[in-house]
Amino acid sequence: MSLHDITARIAKAESTAGRPEGSTKLIAVSKVQPNERVQDVLEQGHRCFGENRVQEAAGKWPDFMEKFSGIDLHLIGPLQTNKARQAMELFSAIHSVDRPKLAKTLARLAQEVGHCPELFIQVNTGEEEQKAGVIPSDADAFIAECRALDLPIQGLMAIPPIDEEPSLHFALLAKIAERNGLQGLSMGMSSDFEQAIALGATHVRVGSAIFGERVKPEG
Ligand SMILES: *Cc1c(COP(=O)(O)O)cnc(C)c1O
Repeated sequence: MSLHDITARIAKAESTAGRPEGSTKLIAVSKVQPNERVQDVLEQGHRCFGENRVQEAAGKWPDFMEKFSGIDLHLIGPLQTNKARQAMELFSAIHSVDRPKLAKTLARLAQEVGHCPELFIQVNTGEEEQKAGVIPSDADAFIAECRALDLPIQGLMAIPPIDEEPSLHFALLAKIAERNGLQGLSMGMSSDFEQAIALGATHVRVGSAIFGERVKPEG
């Protein structure tokens, strides 16, 4: 697969779903990919990328940002409060707001620096022990809490359990977003982004299908 193939598949999925072309943003997930592959995708004109670790992103993106203008970097992995300030400087969106302590820290920093990235609340739709995110029954209250802190909540994000039908999780996420009046839906990865688009994804996070298999293990 290539960037071109993926954008063509996204356009087709949008049209099949009766959605306007261009209504889904492609986040090219570049975590642990060699710089040459990332540079190649930048040279093809793509500007929106996702990273799951603040440290790794801080190590590689400032150089790319000097060479290429208009880079739109999204944090899609867990955020520790002690890295929140750095994350706010580097990323234009954070997809992993998942607990009150982090929400309060982001709100305080946003006041201090006068701006805030777009935020997504991560929902643990599969209620998996090891996975980040608020559980679905706590989502409405947490969304309200974030809004009370004046945080710019754009939408919701989920990573379905690997062994379950992702569509059920995408539909659940869409339902929670709808009843809370949220537009953004960050859902869908290499193996299921077309299903996510059918269920209303506004942001798909696609890594290996664009860049190839990740060469180094994560973490
Ligand atoms: C790695 C990652 C992706 C991309 O996964 P692929 O299967 O390579 O497309 C998407 N979302 C999150 C949160 C990730 O950590």
